[in-house]
Amino acid sequence: MDIMEAIKLRDPGEREFHQAVYEVLESVKPVLDRHPEYRRMKILERITEPERVIMFRVPWFDDQGEIHVNRGFRIQMNSAIGPYKGGLRFHPSVNLSILKFLAFEQTFKNALTTLPMGGGKGGSDFDPKGKSDNEVMRFCQSFMTELFRHIGPDTDVPAGDIGVGAREIGYLFGMYRRLSNQFSGVLTGKGLGWGGSLIRPEATGYGCVYFASEMLATQNQSIKGKTCLVSGAGNVAQHTVEKLIEMGARVVTLSDSSGYIYDEEGMDKDKLNFVKKLKNIRRGRIREYAENYPRSIYTPADPASGFNPLWNHKADCAFPSATQNEINGRDAQNLLVNGVKLIAEGSNMPSTPEAIAAFLSSGIQYAPGKASNAGGVAVSGLEMAQNSMRLRWPREEVDQRLRTIMKSIHKACLDAAEEYGKPGNYMVGANIAGFVKVVNAMLDQGLV
Ligand code: NDP
Repeated sequence: MDIMEAIKLRDPGEREFHQAVYEVLESVKPVLDRHPEYRRMKILERITEPERVIMFRVPWFDDQGEIHVNRGFRIQMNSAIGPYKGGLRFHPSVNLSILKFLAFEQTFKNALTTLPMGGGKGGSDFDPKGKSDNEVMRFCQSFMTELFRHIGPDTDVPAGDIGVGAREIGYLFGMYRRLSNQFSGVLTGKGLGWGGSLIRPEATGYGCVYFASEMLATQNQSIKGKTCLVSGAGNVAQHTVEKLIEMGARVVTLSDSSGYIYDEEGMDKDKLNFVKKLKNIRRGRIREYAENYPRSIYTPADPASGFNPLWNHKADCAFPSATQNEINGRDAQNLLVNGVKLIAEGSNMPSTPEAIAAFLSSGIQYAPGKASNAGGVAVSGLEMAQNSMRLRWPREEVDQRLRTIMKSIHKACLDAAEEYGKPGNYMVGANIAGFVKVVNAMLDQGLV
């Protein structure tokens, strides 16, 4: 039976996981043809099955003394090239399918960084939105009470993702340290005063812009003067905007799940600082941006419309930085009609298969998240290295290493695409380069 069919039969309903697997399997077909041993050793069957899946109950008290029960997960996908590594997501939509897709993508992304990290992902269907700090703390403590026995600096090193930022990592780390009686680099994205790395909060967004610059450089162009659409308003979006402003681009959009803002004048440092305070401290909604800057326009989200109007503005580049499947086929057509020539994904799997097909057939530059957003996990790898050595590198050094890593990922994608007859196809290149590295390690290590 065809492997894709077998996966769908075994795990029916895991739509996002099927989508992520399908994309990789399609890309690596020529590799399988060149390496018959991969099929003989049942590499596809093995690489699509997590090494371990942990699911657990997370009970907690709210501020009124009411008991709630959420579900916790950790997917330990593949540890052939290093300890499991990947973020924790707290969002009501979290389920096994979403975390398996993220862990699967993470495996190849981590391989691309050149650092020794396997792939994992975890989280909960807990929604931190609207919760008090004390409620979030009690939830994190309960979550870690179970998770702590499955992770460790040489086993599995979680980090943040949607809904898990500096506050949550602090509460999670505090509980881990208490339960394990160890101060170790078991989580990344830690506070700067207690083991965190400089540039880690910025790394995914900065890395994405560095990657986009490399893409533009192949066409003798630069970010300077480009009009950019950015979605989301969280960690990745904020630091993407920060680097874009620094490099002279004009950023005109940001969003959250309630709607988006369009600022024709473009954002500057002051406006970005307003967003950072709004989102990271006051935990408010992006609507307030338009209230504060009346020359910008706020449009509420309308999921029933079948398209996202954020992607329907004249621009040169787009940086989706919110969530999966946020660009559908119709959005992709709108982007193309509006003149967008480059897509660099900050979020994981933001483009549906129809959107990707539209980008690839139009010939614009398209970078999949597993390549362009790998800067975050790369600096997490650097945080792990600094923790092991018990020292901290200066900001410039981490930033320089991040740039070098993004450059080398960019080259690895182009080289692999070229080698397999798809020059300039970053998606095929990223999938092949990540896949080959992980698979060769698996083969070297026997049937485990
Ligand atoms: P944050 O929680 O900091 O921000 C997420 C942003 O996206 C928020 O503005 C949120 O709005 C919006 N959003 C989330 N879900 C939805 C949805 N279903 N519909 C519309 N908007 C939504 O997360 P991050 O910035 O860390 O992560 C963003 C993306 O980047 C994710 O895909 C993540 O997997 C990916 N990523 C993150 C990395 C990191 O280092 N943090 C590394 C690599 C990838 P609202 O507040 O209304 O929910």
